[in-house]
Amino acid sequence: MSYVDEVIELVVKKNPAESEFHQAVKEVLESLRVVVEANEEKFRKDALLERLVEPERQFKFRVPWVDDKGQVQVNTGYRVQFNSAIGPYKGGLRLHPSVNIGIIKFLGFEQIFKNSLTGLPIGGGKGGCDFDPKGKSDREVMAFCQSFMTELCKYIGADTDVPAGDIGTGAREIGYMFGQYKRIRGVYEGVLTGKGLSYGGSLARTEATGYGLLYLTEELLKINGKELAGKTVAVSGSGNVAIYATQKAHQLGAKVVTVSDSTGWVYDPDGIDVDVLKEIKEVKRARLTEYKNYRPNAEYHEGKGVWTAKVDIALPCATQNELDVEDAKTLVANGCFAVCEGANMPTTLEATKYLQENGVIFAPGKAANAGGVATSALEMSQNSERLSWSFEEVDSKLQGIMVNICHNMSDAAKRYGQEGNYVLGANIAGFEKIVDAMNAQGIV
Ligand code: GLU
Repeated sequence: MSYVDEVIELVVKKNPAESEFHQAVKEVLESLRVVVEANEEKFRKDALLERLVEPERQFKFRVPWVDDKGQVQVNTGYRVQFNSAIGPYKGGLRLHPSVNIGIIKFLGFEQIFKNSLTGLPIGGGKGGCDFDPKGKSDREVMAFCQSFMTELCKYIGADTDVPAGDIGTGAREIGYMFGQYKRIRGVYEGVLTGKGLSYGGSLARTEATGYGLLYLTEELLKINGKELAGKTVAVSGSGNVAIYATQKAHQLGAKVVTVSDSTGWVYDPDGIDVDVLKEIKEVKRARLTEYKNYRPNAEYHEGKGVWTAKVDIALPCATQNELDVEDAKTLVANGCFAVCEGANMPTTLEATKYLQENGVIFAPGKAANAGGVATSALEMSQNSERLSWSFEEVDSKLQGIMVNICHNMSDAAKRYGQEGNYVLGANIAGFEKIVDAMNAQGIV
């Protein structure tokens, strides 16, 4: 049996019931096959792949907090410190009822390669909790965040592990967590990114994932002799990534006609109104059912179905496995020619294969959504030098990083004779730097 297949089998056996983690490992290791085969003897002897798929450290902890009725609630918190070969662990905190160790490990594993692709010195980590901020009062969210950080603060620090936002963790949650970290540890340091501007945050961090997605998409289309301007786009999700992806798509001359949330999706033939979306999602923290009240021309549809809209480009920006093979078939039948992932692993393995086989330009999340974490690394730099850069400076660095990622993944695919296979290109480009650093640092 090949080394890659052996390690995939080992991961499944050692970590049963972690299906998302299996999926992420399979995707990465399958595309590393060519590189692994060329170095098989050394990699095997060093157990390089076994070390790569085993987190350096992982924490699981109790998070008790009191709700507004005086009832004690108990959630489960996680932090997985996956790989620190190229820098301190870096990655977000997901607050969502679906969170379990398998989800956090899939995200942490992806993060290793994504962070490497940014070209910045950040290792891979991820954390979160099965707490649902939806429908909670500010006081409840604060109580939860303080309890969560009371435990988490033992394992993190500006030079060791720097968490940030992810689904369910936005500016409000980061603020409460930062306050509690400072209170317990007594140090004012850049231990979290995505902070507010008045206490060490970076301009353009809020916009970075969505903007970065569009910078990469535009460049990738250019490489393929196509243009973004004038195209119709489907965006899924309506959180931070979706909002700023929509805004940047419009700035670059494309038209986004859909957004979605966990209950349904909106089709706006005139183009999604970003101000309305922000009002509903960021100010009111309400459902998309309200969108029609502001934009009478728009349609609201219950349930799944965002990928049935006829578009040129699809940008899944909601969550993992939201685009399956049936959706992929519909997109292709409707003439969609590019799918770029704003979320982490939103496309199933089968759907990815179908899209690639049908000539769709496909950019994996670890490249396409790396703008968020890249800008987090820029926030870390600013915190270290105790300075803050202008919006233009951060935004232009972000743009440079995304264009670089795009060319690095495209070139890596070409080097291995698989031009246009950006999944393979992104995985290999990310892996090369990590292997080099791991080899240099000995068996650790
Ligand atoms: N949660 C984001 C990601 O998946 C951002 C992480 C960060 O800024 O550290 O990459």
